[in-house]
Amino acid sequence: MPAADQAAVPASPLADQTIIDAEVVAPPGDAVQRVLIVDDNADMRAYLQRLLQRRWHVHAARNGREALDAVAAVRPDVIISDVMMPHVDGFQLLAALRANPETRDIAFILLSARAGEEARVDGLAAGADEYLTKPFSGRELMARVDSLLMRRRIRIIADGFAQRMQSVFAQAPVAIAILNGPTHVFEQANALYQRLIGRREILGRPIRDALPELEGQGIYELLDHVYRSGQPYLGHSERVELRRGPEGELEECFFNFVYQPLIGTDGVTEGIAVVSFEVTELAKAKRAAETANRVKDEFLAMLGHELRNPLAPIITALQLMRLRGITVAEKERAIIERQAKHLVALVDDLLDVSRVAQGKVQLRKKQVEAAEVIAKAIETASPILEEKLHRLTIEVPASGLPLEADPERLGQVIANLLTNAAKYTGRGGEVRVHASRQADSVVIMVSDNGIGIADHMLPHIFDLFVQEAQALSRSQGGLGLGLAIAKSMTTLHGGTIRAESDGVGRGSRFSVTLPIVAAPMPALSAGALSNMAALPLLRDDSLSILIVDDNVDAARMLGETLALSGHRTRLAFDGPSALEIAEEFTPDVGLLDIGLPGMDGYELAARLRERAGGRSLRLFAITGYGQETDRQRSLEAGFDKHLVKPIDPKLLESLLGA
Ligand code: ADP
Repeated sequence: MPAADQAAVPASPLADQTIIDAEVVAPPGDAVQRVLIVDDNADMRAYLQRLLQRRWHVHAARNGREALDAVAAVRPDVIISDVMMPHVDGFQLLAALRANPETRDIAFILLSARAGEEARVDGLAAGADEYLTKPFSGRELMARVDSLLMRRRIRIIADGFAQRMQSVFAQAPVAIAILNGPTHVFEQANALYQRLIGRREILGRPIRDALPELEGQGIYELLDHVYRSGQPYLGHSERVELRRGPEGELEECFFNFVYQPLIGTDGVTEGIAVVSFEVTELAKAKRAAETANRVKDEFLAMLGHELRNPLAPIITALQLMRLRGITVAEKERAIIERQAKHLVALVDDLLDVSRVAQGKVQLRKKQVEAAEVIAKAIETASPILEEKLHRLTIEVPASGLPLEADPERLGQVIANLLTNAAKYTGRGGEVRVHASRQADSVVIMVSDNGIGIADHMLPHIFDLFVQEAQALSRSQGGLGLGLAIAKSMTTLHGGTIRAESDGVGRGSRFSVTLPIVAAPMPALSAGALSNMAALPLLRDDSLSILIVDDNVDAARMLGETLALSGHRTRLAFDGPSALEIAEEFTPDVGLLDIGLPGMDGYELAARLRERAGGRSLRLFAITGYGQETDRQRSLEAGFDKHLVKPIDPKLLESLLGA
């Protein structure tokens, strides 16, 4: 080592002379760092000052006491201090600095004349970062200061980073804890985690000790498994009971959480990161909603059965009265019967809804033609279609659209759509049923030109209890269940149902799409054939027939029979309304009951003839009286035929065809 570099006291002046006045050179972008020299020897101070000024801002103090003042004033990054000094020596200075949090981190180099390992160990034990024995090399000192400053800078950066991580950890919007080792010792837990477990002393304690109430809840076992397998575990809305209340009582909580194994560089699991998000409110709300829903289903089922029980004997009693030919208060009875049937229909809807909700609907599937199902549905819906004087157009091929379906249930779906079309369309509207094959599906469409459906309602129309305000105001007595049932039944058939409307007042279209049966239909049974023959496709020679009977059921039965044979029919239940309908309907045929209240059949026949003028109008009397005198009287009154109840449909058909 060259003599010029030996920092014996005093140092070689020449070697350092050349650089005394040099500019302080600091790494670009770095604040120049400060070095404080503490030595009672003026030569030594001067030497060190010269040496270090090349790179750093240098300040000097003569002893420990002055140094403490200088520290407060200049905040040095490194202190190079002699040991033996008056007032406060190097060790005392070091102790004072280390005792103060503000100065604890200042790098400290002890310079001492005491050589040997023991002295060095003493210095380092007192908290010095370096210990140099005089004489020392100037270059070595520079290198030591450099490396201390570098270490300090790295530490500051690392501390800053750790602090940032710590603050992210502390402020994370989820609860986080770090568990260490196979017994899952809490190493860290952020504020949210602490709050989540009820602010208990958990750090440094194994989880079985820190959270003993988890015993028997499967949590410890889960952590053991994650630790052993190194596989993470994701918990979704899992239920845990924690003692976190002020009284330490058990509280039911729900969490979404992750147990993430922390794998060391050697590939071995060291611990587990727990990230938890409490979802107790959500989980409880969901459970409450599910309970409420179940209670509602049970209530509906119970209500349905309770209502149906008294309805059944009412209907039976009415039927018995009719069978016994009891004719008293016939009108009132008809009202009771109609209303009771309406109630039965409502109750049936309720029961269907709860059956669907409880998965109790069993389909009795078989191969059927779409036409068969549609015919049944039209039969069901025809009373309301007729009552509202709608024109029903049917475009359904009698065969070629085979389905695998429960005819009753699917018929119910289509009947529902038809009934709705009739309900939500003003009097005398257009209702259309159309069925066709589209790719591998059969599409049955029911459309109307009625009140239509607002855009915002369309997505909800198949939900339970949904009714549009507009429909409510002209309430048709439904419960808003029909379409929900229709949807469930269609889904059970592997099909879909959709609603379309061009808007309020512009009609609605409902289409049911069902898979077509690939296999050829088996030979049709005689029953199926007769059913299909009854499909009300308007025929070329179809007649407009006005049926007038004060017995509503009798009129309807006859109307349905004729409609199913492909005729257009209208019903009236008394003379004056028959005359009114005839004005716009211009019937080809009138089937008139004779015993009508008020205006009897004879008078009605005469008036109809009068109004028809020269137009062809055939009138058939339909009556319970079959004496020759009765027949005579009918013919005299202008009837073409006199038919006695019950009417033979074949005879009627042949008379109509004549
Ligand atoms: P309900 O007829 O008993 O009210 P639905 O479930 O059958 O119940 O129908 C639900 C609602 O859908 C009805 O209240 C009505 O607002 C609307 N809707 C159904 N069909 C039609 C239609 N053809 N035209 C207009 N609105 C309809």
